[in-house]
Amino acid sequence: MVSLDSPSRAGSLALVGGELALDFANTSSGRGTSGHLEHLRRAEDVADWAGHARVILPDDADWLRGRVGGDGALAEDLLGSALDLREHIYVIASELAAGRLAPQPSIDSLTKAHARCVGKAHLKPFERQFFWTWSPRQDPVEAALGPVALSAMTTLMQADLTRVKQCQGEKCGWLFFDTTKNKSRRWCEMEVCGNRAKQKRLTQRALKCD
Ligand SMILES: [Zn+2]
Repeated sequence: MVSLDSPSRAGSLALVGGELALDFANTSSGRGTSGHLEHLRRAEDVADWAGHARVILPDDADWLRGRVGGDGALAEDLLGSALDLREHIYVIASELAAGRLAPQPSIDSLTKAHARCVGKAHLKPFERQFFWTWSPRQDPVEAALGPVALSAMTTLMQADLTRVKQCQGEKCGWLFFDTTKNKSRRWCEMEVCGNRAKQKRLTQRALKCD
């Protein structure tokens, strides 16, 4: 069940995934548990997250939030495309984190989403390198999701995928890219899930000693 009683925190979630695509996947947590939290409930939430994660500039995020409020087709495209892309990233990354091969249908869908976004991108130079850029007010869906799809693709093609991990915290399931020297990171955030697990262990030990 998706909890809807608390406001969406799309505009303030911790960005601790280490890759933009994983931060995007972390806009939902506790999948498959009674504590499932969904932060992308409306198209406005996607605009809020994109501004918060600096995928688009804050001014453009404000503009997009206003636009989707009055344009149902755009709102539907933004939210629907965002949730589709996020699901594919989640499935691929959680399988990799479990040491399994990412399923081909999800890879194919990610490739299609990436191609759609790159179709609206412009390659522009910055300090002796070229980068994909988008025009948020001309192609808002591609501008908000393009950098996310690109992050997923470059991670898959260039990164050490044994570093893709999933937090084992209760009702969490956040994904992250472990950059520690000996690949020892276990938690999305030590202060959140790490401390909760530690507290649980201490409580269980105390009960055993009673
Ligand atoms: Zn966690």
